[in-house]
Amino acid sequence: MSDHRRRTRIVATLGPATDAPGMLESLLRAGVDVVRLNFSHGDPESQVARADAVRAAASAVGVEVGILADLPGPKLRIERFAEGRVQLRAGQRFDLVASADAPPGDASQVGVSYLGLPRDVGRGDILLLDDGLVQLRVEQVEGERIATTVLHDGVLSDRKGLNRHGGGLSLGALTEDDRALIGVAARLGADFIAVSFCRNAADMMEARDIARSHGSDASLCAKIERAEAIANLREVIQASDAVMVARGDLAVEIGDAELPGLQKKIIRESLACSKVVITATQMLQSMVDSPMPTRAEVLDVANAVIDGTDAVMLSQETAAGHFPLKAVEAMARICIGAEKQFEMDTDFEKAQRDLQRADQAIAMAAMFLSEHIGVRAIVAMTESGGTPRYLSRFRASVPIYGLSRHPGARRRMALMRDVFPVAFDSRGLATREAAREAVRVLYEQGFLAEGDRIIFTSGDHMEQHGATNTLRLLKVGSAGQAEGLGVI
Ligand code: ATP
Ligand code: MG
Ligand code: MG
Repeated sequence: MSDHRRRTRIVATLGPATDAPGMLESLLRAGVDVVRLNFSHGDPESQVARADAVRAAASAVGVEVGILADLPGPKLRIERFAEGRVQLRAGQRFDLVASADAPPGDASQVGVSYLGLPRDVGRGDILLLDDGLVQLRVEQVEGERIATTVLHDGVLSDRKGLNRHGGGLSLGALTEDDRALIGVAARLGADFIAVSFCRNAADMMEARDIARSHGSDASLCAKIERAEAIANLREVIQASDAVMVARGDLAVEIGDAELPGLQKKIIRESLACSKVVITATQMLQSMVDSPMPTRAEVLDVANAVIDGTDAVMLSQETAAGHFPLKAVEAMARICIGAEKQFEMDTDFEKAQRDLQRADQAIAMAAMFLSEHIGVRAIVAMTESGGTPRYLSRFRASVPIYGLSRHPGARRRMALMRDVFPVAFDSRGLATREAAREAVRVLYEQGFLAEGDRIIFTSGDHMEQHGATNTLRLLKVGSAGQAEGLGVI
């Protein structure tokens, strides 16, 4: 099918490389659905400015774009270098200086703001920087100075993360900094707030409470990147709206060999709990410096799509890479290619056991019908995005149009696979009229054609969350008139 529209969503991190004039609009045109602001880099004012720029670009391009604010968490980081970056050589000595007034770094040393580090490491420890790309072996600790040997040639730049092989260096989850930054996320109107290094459900609930106290209705996203979160996976997912497979730090903690299986498990569990899931970090890493992905990267992105992820994410590729636009274009192309091959084995028997609510039941019935009678699309009236989320968990490869009058709900839907948000105000319309009007709007926008069969879901009380209780089978008649479906 040549008119295949991409169903897997793309998240792109903003940074210096996306500040070039016109770049944001180009990235949105190329298919970015959600932007990520990494609160570990840049001050609050620059984050607010970027969020405003995103909204301006989204309205210029005419698309719904979600904003994800990613909290720093308790990640240990090195400080800055005089020149921004240094080249390290295997075998050389390189010192970490845990002091509040260490000078800007050079090729022999760099500062670390966590003053407790010399206490926490010992001779023989392997320190992993920049998600493991740079490795240092601790030789000796003297006062505030940690002397190490560089294990491989590599470049190290400002504010890269630092961890110990085997984990154990990161502290509690929400830091004082995080609590304050949730306020910034609320102020800039974030649609998603990501909690780094969360350990359990309580961390997520605390972040949610703080967000709500600032008047934010953002979805809460758990970043799975430490062993404790894996041990508490179910409860963490259940306490969140979205989940991120944060492969950089996760691989450092649990070892890279365990990562592929865990990625699949996290995606499967997220879908089973009706949550949205993002696969992140180093997906097209070579495109930081190269206009083309490697074959292995193509396979990695495609495999995440085949695993059933909602979204794939770009980090440094767009934030600080040389080819941000090409990276987004490559991602979009790979997603489409993989989706064409994708066949999810939807197990309705199993899904049935998890049903707790009327809207979940309607969603399952809709997907069951769509598989068995064949429909062109599912059209869901929604207040919060809840029904489209339940519908899309089945990965039935039928486009789901989520019609909502709330911009916030439409931006949340921008992260859901198979879902296309559409602005639509159904207030004052009875269900039958709303169905007719919705079909006409989608027909006029070119999403539906005469003769298409569709499933329409809605509630009797259209202005209530979770009120979906009705399913209709309709056929698109001449000039986009909705007709009841009689004989199939
Ligand atoms: P995290 O653990 O939160 O992913 P990170 O340091 O790996 O932190 P990413 O967002 O994954 O950060 O981006 C990768 C790299 O891109 C960063 O290490 C940094 O060099 C650069 N980068 C990202 N965002 C910004 C920004 N706002 N300003 C400057 N550089 C940035
Ligand atoms: Mg991380
Ligand atoms: Mg990262």
